[in-house]
Amino acid sequence: MNCRPSCAACCIAPSITSPLPGMPNGKPAGVPCVQLDEALRCKVFGQPERPAFCGGLLPAAEMCGDTREHALVWLARLEQVTRP
Ligand code: SF4
Ligand code: SF4
Repeated sequence: MNCRPSCAACCIAPSITSPLPGMPNGKPAGVPCVQLDEALRCKVFGQPERPAFCGGLLPAAEMCGDTREHALVWLARLEQVTRP
């Protein structure tokens, strides 16, 4: 499936433990990544600075659902159950 435009739920809901440009301590859960541009696209897509975590998250019906709200809730739940 294709990534939905203007969603970025997976750049907001999950925490990212590795550093990324502008977020040297990683990204807390629920905080929009500073690398999102005005159109909610990744500014470091395809660049080595993009965390490996991001490349591992591929669009999937279960995660993305039909709405951004679905994805935000699904990813927030995943964050809770995978918290160390
Ligand atoms: S949750 Fe799915 S549709 Fe939304 S930005 Fe991530 S991959 Fe794209
Ligand atoms: S680096 Fe890019 S893909 Fe990763 S969370 Fe930030 S905006 Fe999203």
